[in-house]
Amino acid sequence: MKVLKFGGTSVGSPERMEQLLPIIKSQASDKHLVVLSAVSGTTNALVNISEQYAKGDKEGAKESIDKLFATYKTFIKQLFKTEDGLQAGEEVINHHFSLLEGFSNDLFTSMEERIVLAQGELLSTTLFHFYLKEKGISSVLLAALDFMRIDEEQEPNLEYIKSQLEVELAKYPKETLFITQGYICRNAFGEIDNLRRGGSDYTASLIGAVLQVEEVQIWTDIDGFHNNDPRFVPNTKPIAELSFEEAAELAYFGAKILHPQSVFPAQRFNVPVRLLDTMDLKAPGTLISGNSQNDDQIVAIAAKDGITAIRINSSRMLLAYGFLRRVFEVFERYKTPIDMITTSEVAVSLTIDQTQYLDEIITELNYFGSVEVDSDLAIICIVGDFRNNKLGHATIVSEAVKHIPIRMISYGGSEHNISLLVPAKHKLEALRSLHNRLF
Ligand code: ADP
Ligand code: ASP
Ligand code: MG
Repeated sequence: MKVLKFGGTSVGSPERMEQLLPIIKSQASDKHLVVLSAVSGTTNALVNISEQYAKGDKEGAKESIDKLFATYKTFIKQLFKTEDGLQAGEEVINHHFSLLEGFSNDLFTSMEERIVLAQGELLSTTLFHFYLKEKGISSVLLAALDFMRIDEEQEPNLEYIKSQLEVELAKYPKETLFITQGYICRNAFGEIDNLRRGGSDYTASLIGAVLQVEEVQIWTDIDGFHNNDPRFVPNTKPIAELSFEEAAELAYFGAKILHPQSVFPAQRFNVPVRLLDTMDLKAPGTLISGNSQNDDQIVAIAAKDGITAIRINSSRMLLAYGFLRRVFEVFERYKTPIDMITTSEVAVSLTIDQTQYLDEIITELNYFGSVEVDSDLAIICIVGDFRNNKLGHATIVSEAVKHIPIRMISYGGSEHNISLLVPAKHKLEALRSLHNRLF
């Protein structure tokens, strides 16, 4: 079995949906599970509608819903070629849009917000299912809300996902094509929730992991994982192979092509992930696996914005054992992950990207010593072979950014990563300068 995930642009128009048919048909002899994102632009529109509802701007929300509805009316007219198909499409969009409009008289909390956000993937998968039906291709639409679940810590409940998914699949022993929604799930309370923006990659990897599939294919709008962010840097190139560690590091530190958590499930169950281009079927893409390795090379660069650095100066306590544990416990209490950390004899600096509890964290850290906070920073992550016998790689990196102010450097944490913390306004220059020097 294989998992094929198609992102927002890959289902972004009726023509694009049509272009998925040969890809899906070419794998028809095998069982495969297709994970779809929302049609591109839809989740952003739904975020906007939720914000309008939450502000009490019901008229604004209604206007935005009407606008989105109009795009879907055009979409289905172009997608379906038969009366029956079009009627099915109309019923689908009428159902989801009347649900969206129905919130206007309700109290709008985060629970309603998550229901609104879920409509994008529910729309795309149901429309695609009926589109396949019109084309005479049999498929089973599986409801992700029946099997995809996160726990109280927002972590996927792998046992539940596996057992429920197996129950669902067993109901259709003869079918080979299954379709489900990316991104959406239920939480520990059974409410509709989601896996954060870009989460369809995570859905695909989780399904691939629990079912131990042959391969997870992430089909997107670019010919593979590039060695730098193509949105900001010219002349980036696709990378043929990445190890799980390299890909995880790049995704976690900002490479938008993959959801930050999406490599971990595949890595844990050793399921290869292939990145492929829906617009260029001949492109070899990128294979992420346990067998790939890029010896003696600097492989790629990524950047993550919105970083805050915290420095705790504590000449009295830093060398005392148990000090770092107590510092970390503060972050643990506020469920705030730490990304980078560096220490000296008198101070420790660390970075976070979730600042919801920053004030509370600072209040507690003040107990250990004086605390300084810098915001608007970016982590630049350089992934490559940085084993300590590879002389010179670190020097090339530091030389490339010698004109950029650096707030922190992390080296040696793993054998394949150097991270630099720079003011966000220097991010582009750092990415470009490193690119020119390294590739
Ligand atoms: P999808 O909708 O298919 O999930 P995304 O927009 O989430 O697609 O991810 C693909 C986009 O990620 C590319 O179009 C590209 O602009 C961006 N991107 C950022 N960093 C990289 C990278 N290192 N390699 C490839 N694409 C990247
Ligand atoms: N539709 C969701 C988003 O736009 C999930 C995804 O596309 O992966 O974030
Ligand atoms: Mg994406």
